[in-house]
Amino acid sequence: MRRKLAAGNWKMNGLTTQLVELDNILKSNENPAVDLLICPPATLIASAAKHARGSAMMIGGQDCHVNLSGAHTGDISAEMLRDSGALAVILGHSERRQDHNETDQIVCKKTQTAMENGLISVVCLGESLEQRESGETLQVIGAQLAGSVPDCATSDTLVIAYEPIWAIGTGLVPSLEQIAEVHDFIREKLTERFGTDMANGVRILYGGSVKPDNAAEIFGVSNVDGALVGGASLSAQDFCPIISALE
Ligand code: 13P
Repeated sequence: MRRKLAAGNWKMNGLTTQLVELDNILKSNENPAVDLLICPPATLIASAAKHARGSAMMIGGQDCHVNLSGAHTGDISAEMLRDSGALAVILGHSERRQDHNETDQIVCKKTQTAMENGLISVVCLGESLEQRESGETLQVIGAQLAGSVPDCATSDTLVIAYEPIWAIGTGLVPSLEQIAEVHDFIREKLTERFGTDMANGVRILYGGSVKPDNAAEIFGVSNVDGALVGGASLSAQDFCPIISALE
């Protein structure tokens, strides 16, 4: 049985004062059946990990480099994330694919490095509005999935997040049928490639404008094992009802 996962992506938001929200989330969370993951900006990972120590909350990064060390100014390696207390990392987010020209091949290499260094990898996939409207969604998701997930993935190290680009930060959410279609498709493709046991253990999260008022219906959709939440993960007031909606 897959444990549900409520993951928060703080993106480029949060100063040290924001860490109090981690305590607030831990205080108000009454759902022990749900795994929690918060991915703050890199500057806060070490102190966030201290806040979360001994709790049910994991702390994660939002990216890592393909290599473990070297002349890569401004980059952070998987080993460094581990060293600062992170247990997971988001990879291939559409904002990184767009802003930093990350291809499936790069995401795949990063994911392999992250997994080899003991980090759970939350690999993000998602179509643009143009691709959705021209009926290419499953083709795009299939290609991203095949290209971004390395062969070494296991159900313990891999989490998939389906995040339609047009739903991120827009308040727009696909219909429940559209979410089900993509999540079922991802499970099917994982099964074809990795076999039933592995595929049935991988959590598939939905991300894109998840809010307290739409979380419950999204979590009712087949093969939705949790959420990757942006804006609504920045405050316990918004994030805790989303966690509670994960039965
Ligand atoms: P929002 O929840 O703000 O739409 O962001 C989703 C997201 O990109 C999470 O990674």
